[in-house]
Amino acid sequence: MSTVRLKHVKKIYDHAVTAVHDFSLDIADKEFIVLVGPSGCGKSTTLRMVAGLEEISEGELYIDEKLVNDEAPKDRDIAMVFQSYALYPHMTVRENMEFPLKLKKMPKAEINQRVQDAAEILGITQYLDRKPKALSGGQRQRVAIGRAIVREPKVLLMDEPLSNLDAKLRNQMRSEIIKLRQRINTTFLYVTHDQTEAMTLGDRIVIMKDGYIQQIGTPQEVFNHP
Ligand code: ADP
Ligand code: ADP
Repeated sequence: MSTVRLKHVKKIYDHAVTAVHDFSLDIADKEFIVLVGPSGCGKSTTLRMVAGLEEISEGELYIDEKLVNDEAPKDRDIAMVFQSYALYPHMTVRENMEFPLKLKKMPKAEINQRVQDAAEILGITQYLDRKPKALSGGQRQRVAIGRAIVREPKVLLMDEPLSNLDAKLRNQMRSEIIKLRQRINTTFLYVTHDQTEAMTLGDRIVIMKDGYIQQIGTPQEVFNHP
């Protein structure tokens, strides 16, 4: 079970810029939520507050009914995938994927099993001993997703994960994310500026504009009543 609840969440940068005004949303267990809207509307800021990478200025964030405003990112049971992959360049794919589990001091056998399972799900078993620089953009993003899911996080955050890929690969990865979702037990919070991505991936879509929520609904609701 992992529900996420944002209650009147607000972000003010440097006592000056209000990036997110009043964000309230209840995310159900295993729901796939997409935040969509133009650049600068507050999507990343919202995601980063859920991750704990950005302090919440006002309001409350609950994960599984527990208030987590003051919990460090590592204590939130959340993993995040970035547009820029953020892989460790000096480590192999396998080492990149092992890293978060080694930090948790997980037994070696379990680490191996989890890395193997995630690599199979993402189709990257043949690249495990390569360094990121020897991989294509799509392969790198698969590794970044692999490194996130080995932790079996309650919530998987994705910030424009496909935006660095070309159109063909983006379509392919979109289908793979749908399959991924059927194989792992997690709640998704996904940020994009791409409407097609939002429509195909989201159970519900949150449309943001200028730091405000403009509309929340299923793809059908949002699409039919723009
Ligand atoms: P999006 O992800 O929708 O592109 P962001 O959350 O990145 O939007 O940004 C929302 C607003 O907050 C923008 O006006 C942006 O310039 C501002 N902003 C983002 N990060 C910071 C920061 N670290 N310091 C100050 N302002 C920021
Ligand atoms: P995106 O729009 O893809 O979310 P940006 O290019 O707006 O990303 O921001 C990249 C980084 O710069 C983020 O970490 C964001 O927090 C930071 N940032 C964005 N706007 C500002 C700003 N006005 N002042 C300081 N940092 C900012």
